[in-house]
Amino acid sequence: MPLVREKDGKRLHVKSKLMGESLVSKAFIESLDIAPQHRLFPDVCIMKIGGQSICDRGAKALPGIIKEIGENRKKHKMLITTGGGTRSRHIYTIALELGMPTGIVASFGSTISKQNALMVSFLLSPWGGIKISHDDICKLPTYFAEGIIPVTHGMPPYDYFAIRPAKGRIPIHRTDVGMTLLGDLIGSKNIIFIKDEKGLYTDDPKKNPDAKFIPEIGAKELMDMKLDDLVIERPCLEIIQNSEVIEKIQILNGMEPGNITRALNGEHVGTIIYKQ
Ligand code: ADP
Ligand code: MG
Repeated sequence: MPLVREKDGKRLHVKSKLMGESLVSKAFIESLDIAPQHRLFPDVCIMKIGGQSICDRGAKALPGIIKEIGENRKKHKMLITTGGGTRSRHIYTIALELGMPTGIVASFGSTISKQNALMVSFLLSPWGGIKISHDDICKLPTYFAEGIIPVTHGMPPYDYFAIRPAKGRIPIHRTDVGMTLLGDLIGSKNIIFIKDEKGLYTDDPKKNPDAKFIPEIGAKELMDMKLDDLVIERPCLEIIQNSEVIEKIQILNGMEPGNITRALNGEHVGTIIYKQ
């Protein structure tokens, strides 16, 4: 980075291509030469425990999943995030009925996914589960050195600043998006969504018995299919497609014992959505 001295000979400037630019120009951004994104923690597997799909099933689903995650602690570095689920949907319904803006609805969503993070972290405490905040991501090496399994809430911190969608006021960036963004941030090679279905189908298998299972698909191709319903939030696909570090994400059925361990060991379980 060249330093230039002002004409009066006293002050130094960093000569930068960004100086005087609006940072809005498409042509300018296209012309900018930047270093490839550094993978901060490629060996950390990031996993989301679904809110509606898993946490809300309580004792029927969580203990088995918690135990399976805990038993993998010696072999894998894992960062856990949590969804919100049915309680988020309750408060969204009431808030929307009362005319609340998207930013308020999103703030409510954050608090519910925090509740689940707290619960999951305490259930994981025999295996070193600890609830962390988003700001603690910078401490990941310390946690893993101590054998800790960090747990954080999945809702991205947009809250009052959540972008309103074209239709309705339900925030489109929720806990699936939060985890995909965290995966991009830390450059994780293994991003796993723990849900209650085998993976992605052509339609919601709970509503359409003729829905076909899709074992593997590119993010771009899936976007172009414009399916009416998806197993992960729609903006995740664009994040995967634009990412410099995400190669793939995996969606699996955590209710089937062994699936999480297999995915952690690099096996193809459920559906893989890859960057095209
Ligand atoms: P989470 O609580 O993990 O966020 P959700 O309940 O929000 O999970 O989303 C997962 C659910 O999405 C599945 O259990 C399934 O019923 C539904 N779903 C909708 N569309 C699809 C699809 N195309 N393929 C698979 N599942 C789908
Ligand atoms: Mg969901």
